[in-house]
Amino acid sequence: MATEPKLLENPGFLRAAVKDRRAQGHRIALVPTMGALHEGHLALVNQARSHADTVIVSIFVNPAQFAPNEDFSRYPRTLAHDMELLNGLADFVYVPSNADMYPSGFSTRLNLDGPATGLETDFRPHFFSGVAIVVTKLFLQSGADVAVFGEKDYQQLKVVTQLARDLDIPIEIIPGPTVRESDGLALSSRNQYLSSAERDIAPIIFLTLGSAREAIRAGAPLDDVMLQAKTALTDAGLKVDYMAARNADTLGPFVPGRPGRILVAAWLGKTRLIDNLGF
Ligand code: AMP
Repeated sequence: MATEPKLLENPGFLRAAVKDRRAQGHRIALVPTMGALHEGHLALVNQARSHADTVIVSIFVNPAQFAPNEDFSRYPRTLAHDMELLNGLADFVYVPSNADMYPSGFSTRLNLDGPATGLETDFRPHFFSGVAIVVTKLFLQSGADVAVFGEKDYQQLKVVTQLARDLDIPIEIIPGPTVRESDGLALSSRNQYLSSAERDIAPIIFLTLGSAREAIRAGAPLDDVMLQAKTALTDAGLKVDYMAARNADTLGPFVPGRPGRILVAAWLGKTRLIDNLGF
């Protein structure tokens, strides 16, 4: 078990560290993040620990998953604090550079279908191909046995699970439950963009998901419930990108009698928040 995590700043150091741990018979877990860590990330790291002897947290703000008009340059970067938070929790913190991940001439793209269809993709068409490239690279560079991904980014979890399966990457993807503030707001590195007035409004997202779930359980028609939920957010001043009830496994249309998932993305001022809830 680690005390201070060791910083690994390029793929060569990562491979050497993993080789050394493998020689000791260790199972390896990876928790990919973009840093600005919070309790949600730390819960994933703890979960990783229960599946492996060596835990690697990667921190990489991946330019390929941001469109030019998005928040790549202002995304919070807090490495020193992240390292402190990971004290005693992670063995290694892998922080590759952009040049390590995307060397000059990098020209591979991944086309995604299935769970990547619609929802986020309708509003951020570049997003999952960027995620898929970086996650594939992190899986191959680390050779990890397991990787933990948060249900907070539910479509991403499904896309990554499908990607590993389709590409025969020998890694098990483990979902981690969403960690929330006491008022229900899902922890997110982007919550720090919210003004205090916006922060007071933000819990409406989770409250609305909860009400929608109750209405669905009570037998209300799905389309009506989604429309009402969208209206509740719009009335509270949010701009809704999508509010949708889907099959929880495939993210295709909801199938009665099968697990469902309500997924939402909405803007609160200049901040885009996403959340989801199973039913
Ligand atoms: P991020 O760095 O925020 O893009 O996310 C890194 C990982 O942490 C992803 O697998 C996210 O789904 C997960 N994550 C983010 N927020 C939460 C949360 N509130 N609870 C649990 N996992 C989370």
